[in-house]
Amino acid sequence: MTSLMPAPHLQPIARLFTGPRPFAGNRLAYPMETHQQTLRQAIHCQGVGLHSGKNVHLTIKPAPVGSGIRFIRTDLGGQSVAAHIEKVVDTTLATTLGEGACTVSTTEHVLAALRGCGIDNADIELDGPEVPIMDGSAAPFCALIRETGSRRQNEPRIALRITKPIHYNEGEKRLTILPFAGFAVFEEIIFDDDIIQRQRCSTVLRGDDFLIDIAPARTFGRAEDVEFLWARGLALGGSLDNVVTIHWDRKSVLNEGGLRFDNEFVRHKVLDLIGDLSLLGFPLLGRIRAFKVGHSQHLGLMKKIAASPDSWELVHLLPGGFLRRAATQAM
Ligand SMILES: [Zn+2]
Repeated sequence: MTSLMPAPHLQPIARLFTGPRPFAGNRLAYPMETHQQTLRQAIHCQGVGLHSGKNVHLTIKPAPVGSGIRFIRTDLGGQSVAAHIEKVVDTTLATTLGEGACTVSTTEHVLAALRGCGIDNADIELDGPEVPIMDGSAAPFCALIRETGSRRQNEPRIALRITKPIHYNEGEKRLTILPFAGFAVFEEIIFDDDIIQRQRCSTVLRGDDFLIDIAPARTFGRAEDVEFLWARGLALGGSLDNVVTIHWDRKSVLNEGGLRFDNEFVRHKVLDLIGDLSLLGFPLLGRIRAFKVGHSQHLGLMKKIAASPDSWELVHLLPGGFLRRAATQAM
């Protein structure tokens, strides 16, 4: 007898969020690029680092298949550090990667842009210790990537597919990743600032959804915290041009144009999460529930994933949205 259930890829995404059981079939819920991608040409930008305040030139270059994302410090004779969880050296306020003397901080926004635009392989060259903050979001990087375009490479893409739930808790801060034949995030934050209070965001990394819904959301902070940060040599490059700054009354923002979204704060948290999770080195197939988390908990979840090889598998993305277990299962 023929099943009356619609094919998984035709089920509305909302159903996949709220259904009685997480969907974990052998076919993607929506189309994804089957091959690895890099940039068509190099792209350039410059700007200040949020915390260092230093002006930095940044160039993102195409890279060969299987090379992943690398940061290269041209001011340190070309020393490099891979965008990989094993290279995380600090998660205070931002995610810093390091390999010997080569450190690169505030990596999460450019990494989110690359993941959101489907770029698997790229070399990110910079002449300073911190990625430029630009306007505080991932949108400027996405615009440059979109302008030059992506190039399909001659090697199938491998994704890390969650097969059993993985939980990471730190007190009330909670992260869970569940099986899902795509990539989805549901995030919730609670702040006592009147302008934030309780915000929620759910998104699926599908088509242009990341570019429209997540990439433009800017980083944020409180005006009352700025002096505290400055005294500690942090946020030296922070200004109303690159940080959504909450008024001392905590009811409004100081930025002239106001907010880009009513829930811009939680959308930016999703942006950070997507950037940090790219440090797994593979696109993720799973759906995440996140409550009151930040960079440190993102790293905690990734370490838990790395330590739970019986709860995920590496799969090839095949034409038609089919998935096939990859020969290698090493991260
Ligand atoms: Zn951020």
